[in-house]
Amino acid sequence: MTATPLDAPDDDLVSAALPADGKRHAIQPADVRGRFARARAAVFVLLIGLWAVLPWVKIGGHPAVFVDIERRELFLLGATFNAQDTWLLFFLLSGVGFGLVYATALAGRVWCGWACPQTVFLEGVYRRIERWIEGPREKRVRRNAARWSAEKVARKVATHALYVVVSFLVAHIFLSYFASLPETFAMVRQRPSAHPEAFAWALAMTATFYLNFAWFREQLCVVLCPYGRLQSALLDEHSLVVGYDARRGEPRGKKGAAGAGDCVDCKRCIVVCPTGIDIRSGVQMECLACTACIDACDEVMDKLGRARGLIRYDSQDGLAGKPRRLVRARLVLYTALLAAGAVAAGIATHKRRDFEVNLLRLSGAPYEVDGDEVRDALQLHIVNKRATAESYRVEVEPCAGMSAVMPLPTVVIRPLGDARVPVFLSVRSDQFHGDFPVRARVVRLADVSDAIQVSGAFLGPSR
Ligand code: SF4
Ligand code: SF4
Repeated sequence: MTATPLDAPDDDLVSAALPADGKRHAIQPADVRGRFARARAAVFVLLIGLWAVLPWVKIGGHPAVFVDIERRELFLLGATFNAQDTWLLFFLLSGVGFGLVYATALAGRVWCGWACPQTVFLEGVYRRIERWIEGPREKRVRRNAARWSAEKVARKVATHALYVVVSFLVAHIFLSYFASLPETFAMVRQRPSAHPEAFAWALAMTATFYLNFAWFREQLCVVLCPYGRLQSALLDEHSLVVGYDARRGEPRGKKGAAGAGDCVDCKRCIVVCPTGIDIRSGVQMECLACTACIDACDEVMDKLGRARGLIRYDSQDGLAGKPRRLVRARLVLYTALLAAGAVAAGIATHKRRDFEVNLLRLSGAPYEVDGDEVRDALQLHIVNKRATAESYRVEVEPCAGMSAVMPLPTVVIRPLGDARVPVFLSVRSDQFHGDFPVRARVVRLADVSDAIQVSGAFLGPSR
């Protein structure tokens, strides 16, 4: 039987998603209409659409976002990165993490309510399927509590069959960020035994999405996700939260009751809540800032002819009737840190070269004495970071008494590929008076001003 927040005793309402008895209370949130519900639906369509088309859109001949795990290459909006650029990930990951901290200090859990994939897919796709096939909340709760019937079985089978189909689609779009679309299509058309690894991944992802969105749902947010637990550290009394105006709403009472506040205790805000909490109990870890309770309460206020905003976006100070303050020390510091990080990332990205060169010594003895000659065997490791094939010319800076032999003075390197160019140096023994520096230069032939110089040492027997 499906328990709902309203079936639980009053003190349990505060934490229907995490009840004291430790049992799962499957939540059946009611439909909600209103300005935020419409805005969120539009945002979900936009985000899902963007996510679905990014692997199809080509920039510079490659998908807009594509992670080639096998070749350790990343294509990001026209830029290409390979394994040598992994250090740039530091800026990307720390920027995303710090951006989330900044957004939370400013606007609370706006990420959770509007853009987190868990919310976007659960509210934007899976719950819609459930409502479409199983009807509104009241019918779902009644049917779940009733004995099994042909109609109940048919609706459950249809709902879960559609969940599986959608999970299968979502899994394949997700995997197309890691396997190219032609490859994905080719694999889908072949028998599973032709690509057992890819098939296993597709199945595992489908099962993961299905279990998460059909069953685990809000538990991911309130039990697993660490971000919600950091909330108390990230928010302050000036951050924007979804909150209840207790000064205006309390004491609760029926319309017209003497001394009653604006809250008529209809519990509509609880019934629509996807985590089953009562926002009137204050800011809570389980609140995803989804705004459903704002729309629900506004609808009630409209019917009662009272002003909207009993539940609203406001700071905790604003809800308590104190002055709201957007600019504060924490936010100024965060802005400065964010700006410094953006400048550092900009400089690092600007300094990044389109190719890399390293002068290496071949394995084995550092030098060889052959008759009256001292010989060093080196190699230039050239990494082409461009998404096009490039030609490079290798030059060794002349040095008195030293001769250089390069079997491959020019080399063509495939897009995002690398090559090792051998360089053999020799000096007559009677002209060798100790180790000395050597310099090599690699020029990109498409633009000869694009050159990298590297240096190493000519080694020989000690004198
Ligand atoms: S929806 Fe509004 S009026 Fe109804 S219980 Fe919630 S806060 Fe009170
Ligand atoms: S309390 Fe309101 S904003 Fe928070 S999760 Fe529940 S419905 Fe959404």
